Amino acid sequence: MHESAIVAGIMRILEDEACRHGVARITRVRLQVGLLAAVEERTLSACFDLYAAGTVADGAELSCETTPMHGRCRVCGKECELTRRHFACPACGAAELDLSGGHELTIAAIEAQPQPQQGVRP
Ligand SMILES: [Zn+2]
Repeated sequence: MHESAIVAGIMRILEDEACRHGVARITRVRLQVGLLAAVEERTLSACFDLYAAGTVADGAELSCETTPMHGRCRVCGKECELTRRHFACPACGAAELDLSGGHELTIAAIEAQPQPQQGVRP
């Protein structure tokens, strides 16, 4: 399954980050998903719950935002940002767009609880 490979990659990054910053628990993860990344948020989220169980991200909330895609109309030359899979020029309606991006999947933000301060004595 496509999503499980993605989630495995995300988990590696989360555990790395948690380790580096010394966080106790990751509470929230925000993803930015390209319009063409072909990821289903519900599947991704269910998959994440499975992978996160027993890790630093156990119980963390996963949210996905769609990254707008950049397009340029071949007919009228207008540039646009597409946020839905409806690839037509908003200005003239032509379906001939030069598109760029859309396949990326990045972690936009990680929210975490810091490790409780250990009483460091001078
Ligand atoms: Zn156009």
